[in-house]
Amino acid sequence: MAEDASLDDFLDSSESEDEGGDGMSAGDGTAETESEAPDADASTDAVEPAVTTYAWSPEGAACAECGEVVERRWTQDGVLVCGACKSW
Ligand SMILES: [Zn+2]
Repeated sequence: MAEDASLDDFLDSSESEDEGGDGMSAGDGTAETESEAPDADASTDAVEPAVTTYAWSPEGAACAECGEVVERRWTQDGVLVCGACKSW
């Protein structure tokens, strides 16, 4: 009898905890904390991952030297050039 009662209690509470926790507490709290401060840093890292100053355009962009449309370009003398024009 005691076990039956506690099992029911457990099932009930775990169900309501699931619904509440999913939408509100854990997910929102973590997302807000992470998106507030390091957002700018994170996007900068995504665009310029390495020491090399480098730009990546998913749709491609024209090289400043030869005009070839490439996805990845590197900064050279203040302009963005393709890998072939970049002096390594
Ligand atoms: Zn080029």
